[in-house]
Amino acid sequence: MQKKKIVVVGAGPAGMMAAIKAGSLGQDVILVEKNSILGNKLLLSGKGRCNLTNACELDLFLERFPKSGQFLRDAFKKFFNQDLMSFFQERGLELKVERQLRVFPVTDRSTSIVDILKEELLKQNVKIMFKFKLIDILIKNNSVKGIYINDGELVYCDKLILATGGASYSFTGSTGEGLAIVKKIGHEIVTLLPGLIPLDTKEDYPRILKGLTLKNISIKFCTGKLELISEVGELLFTGTGISGPLVLTLSAKVVDWLSQKKDVYVQIDLKPGLTYEQLDARLLREFKANPKKGFKKIAKSLLPLKLIDIFLKLTNIDPFKKANQLTQKERNDFVSLLKCWRLVISSSRPIEEGMVTQGGVSLKEINPRTMESRIIKGLYFCGEMIDVDADTGGFNLQAAFSTGYLAGESAGST
Ligand SMILES: Cc1cc2nc3c(=O)[nH]c(=O)nc-3n(C[C@H](O)[C@H](O)[C@H](O)COP(=O)(O)OP(=O)(O)OC[C@H]3O[C@@H](n4cnc5c(N)ncnc54)[C@H](O)[C@@H]3O)c2cc1C
Repeated sequence: MQKKKIVVVGAGPAGMMAAIKAGSLGQDVILVEKNSILGNKLLLSGKGRCNLTNACELDLFLERFPKSGQFLRDAFKKFFNQDLMSFFQERGLELKVERQLRVFPVTDRSTSIVDILKEELLKQNVKIMFKFKLIDILIKNNSVKGIYINDGELVYCDKLILATGGASYSFTGSTGEGLAIVKKIGHEIVTLLPGLIPLDTKEDYPRILKGLTLKNISIKFCTGKLELISEVGELLFTGTGISGPLVLTLSAKVVDWLSQKKDVYVQIDLKPGLTYEQLDARLLREFKANPKKGFKKIAKSLLPLKLIDIFLKLTNIDPFKKANQLTQKERNDFVSLLKCWRLVISSSRPIEEGMVTQGGVSLKEINPRTMESRIIKGLYFCGEMIDVDADTGGFNLQAAFSTGYLAGESAGST
């Protein structure tokens, strides 16, 4: 059998896995990467620890991809979380499962993941072309014939797998330029928006509160009658707004609302474990036990110091008032604020700061069983450049590895 020449562009997790799989099928594989290293963004992932995947079961996994879960079913059936974990374990890397079933290498270092991928690329005889950039694609009779790189040099191929990533953290190499090329050759690109992104607020309290993390709170984003309710967790003040797991998880939908010019606000419940009445009763008990104590001192048991001054200002309570001098209205206002502190969302941070990109190559134009373009023969897509994005927790990397595996297998075996 004559070997097929397969070019893979982009040495992120999707492209590396595609090249490894196609190489393992005995094909002649070239991996083209404009950086001089492998997996630049992968190295940053999980704060340098790499949250490789999530150990939850398939249906729960798919729920984390609200817009593209069904599309991914075939890729996940082919190569899912246990397969990915085995891939690394069989090559000598131990993994551990942390809270919410997040999977990490025991080394707590993303370099361990990249090292194994590198070894495997070499083992499968994949030729790696660093510092070469895709600039165009040669298509004849609706079929891929090759790619143009750097200053116009043509590299012929039988199959082309694109894995150029999304459009955030552009210093890692994922600038969205691959998507512009794909648009030029006739594919629909769903509008790019930031995903897993901090949000800015109209109020400037976040500036004063910069760096403060609120733990065990819950939030609710609202627009008109629509609501997005979080679980209990952490929120971080960024200086211009809010971030942290609760915000990032719900941010994709909020970005969607903002892109439709909707007015959005967030309500923060600082005491989700207590009802309004229970919280009020607790405050009353403290007042009775310490009638001469300053209210500000009592508030310390309920709020971080940095927040107390803001809350006293918002409720017009004199910070030097004693507990037994507080009016019922002042107490009610304070409890209401603890249960429902509202901030107006002015915008999201720019796409550059998103942990993932929403949008990309339209799923309507990709065959989910093969990852091949429905428009151009011999062209395959994988990873974040397709219109797939999920919550934090290892879901995005698994999608990149699974779609990469499927694209590599399809291109390598047809
Ligand atoms: C800070 C951060 C932390 C993250 N942590 C996690 C995590 O812990 N778990 C998780 O599941 N997800 C995480 N993600 C998301 C995850 O990293 C991405 O979804 C994943 O890297 C996408 O893989 P990919 O292979 O599709 O694209 P990328 O990793 O973006 O790789 C694309 C590659 O293509 C190359 N390229 C682009 N254009 C060209 C061109 N014209 N020519 C040649 N090469 C080109 C780029 O240089 C790049 O190397 C994180 C993201 C960020 C930003």
